[in-house]
Amino acid sequence: MTTLDHRTLYRLPWTASDNVLSWLEPTNKCNLACDGCYRQNDGTHKTLSEIQADLDTFRRWRTYDSVSIAGGDPLLHPDIVEIVRMVVRDGHKPIINTNGLALTRPLLEDLKRAGLVGLTFHVDSHQGRPGRWKKKTELELNELRLEYAQLVASVGGLSCAFNATIYQDTVEFVPDLVQFAADHIDIIHSIIFIMYRAAITEGDFDFFSDGKPVKATPLVYAVDEATQRTDISAPELVGVIQQRFPDFAPSAYLGGTEKPDSFKWLFTGRFGFPKNGKESKVMGYVGPRFMEVVQNTHHVVKGTYLAYAPQWTLEAGRSALAMGVVEPGMRTIAANYARHLVRHPLDARKKLHFQSVMMIQPIDLLPDGRQNMCDGCPDVTAHDGKIVWSCRLEEYRTYGSLIQSVPKARGCGVASACGSTNCESKHGEHKPEKVA
Ligand code: SF4
Repeated sequence: MTTLDHRTLYRLPWTASDNVLSWLEPTNKCNLACDGCYRQNDGTHKTLSEIQADLDTFRRWRTYDSVSIAGGDPLLHPDIVEIVRMVVRDGHKPIINTNGLALTRPLLEDLKRAGLVGLTFHVDSHQGRPGRWKKKTELELNELRLEYAQLVASVGGLSCAFNATIYQDTVEFVPDLVQFAADHIDIIHSIIFIMYRAAITEGDFDFFSDGKPVKATPLVYAVDEATQRTDISAPELVGVIQQRFPDFAPSAYLGGTEKPDSFKWLFTGRFGFPKNGKESKVMGYVGPRFMEVVQNTHHVVKGTYLAYAPQWTLEAGRSALAMGVVEPGMRTIAANYARHLVRHPLDARKKLHFQSVMMIQPIDLLPDGRQNMCDGCPDVTAHDGKIVWSCRLEEYRTYGSLIQSVPKARGCGVASACGSTNCESKHGEHKPEKVA
């Protein structure tokens, strides 16, 4: 675990009403069933008028740059091309979040013509993929990731990102995925690690909705007992990465609604050259000022914070070096670049690419039952004319409201005060007669 000090990073300025993204779900239907999924697959699609109503809800509540079109898997919606046009007409950048199974070149070309800006592929080893990719390990799936990235690059003009849900048994592969992304920094513009979370029904908490006790069992992300960790954190992943890449340096974050010093979204940006036979070359990591300048300049010029930069800007690293005037991280990158060109002068002709490594740390249940969510959640979706956390939409659909978590009373009966799972070590030997 590395020690990250939130006061030295740039706190992203995103709020509920002034953000970078909104999360549109035109379908619940999916062709996979990932372990960490938080959407009930009832096979239904929304109508185009329902989708327009969602876009109107986003417009009613906030300003934003891009729309993540997700689900389920949005490529399964029969009108996905028209949905992309609707987002463009609404004045936002459409990004499709897909597992890629249903993607074909002709469909991708149609989506690009409709105004698509980019794709985020969800690929990891807990998806139960069929066929060639059945039971493939996290690293064996790099072959699939490369296939998707090369398909997108061959169509051109589209940004390409990958996200992977990180589980207890895949934490160790994160540095390899960071290396894989660096090797293809020219066609993979972002890699996102999302930490696995689940609602443990037989765990340390009782659940309530509007004050009434409820069972979490109906929720797609409920599990009876914790068969694996549900508390992997962003600093932990940074620590694992820094064991391999000591200079790996996050620069911006979103805090938590209960713990402002937590890293709910953690952003790391870097510039470099892709692998050309021997090795890829990362020139360095941007500092906190980089994101501050980028976000606020976009807000001043466009009126919104920036979610997805146009693909051409991601390969314009040489001109970005000028930011070294105000940004120490860029100064280091410029110095490394100059030293590199002394040894490899021909590389001066090559483009310098930008890539982000993101981490998302969903809900953290605190020992006293408070729920630490992402403060300024970019992935809000529409529900009943309101904007809600998309990771908890199922609770509104199942109970009509979010569920609260209260520590279970156990052991010496003073748990309601301590709420501590290791009651015995805190309150001495278990005194069964006192159990309420
Ligand atoms: S609050 Fe939930 S939906 Fe929003 S960014 Fe965090 S994990 Fe995603």
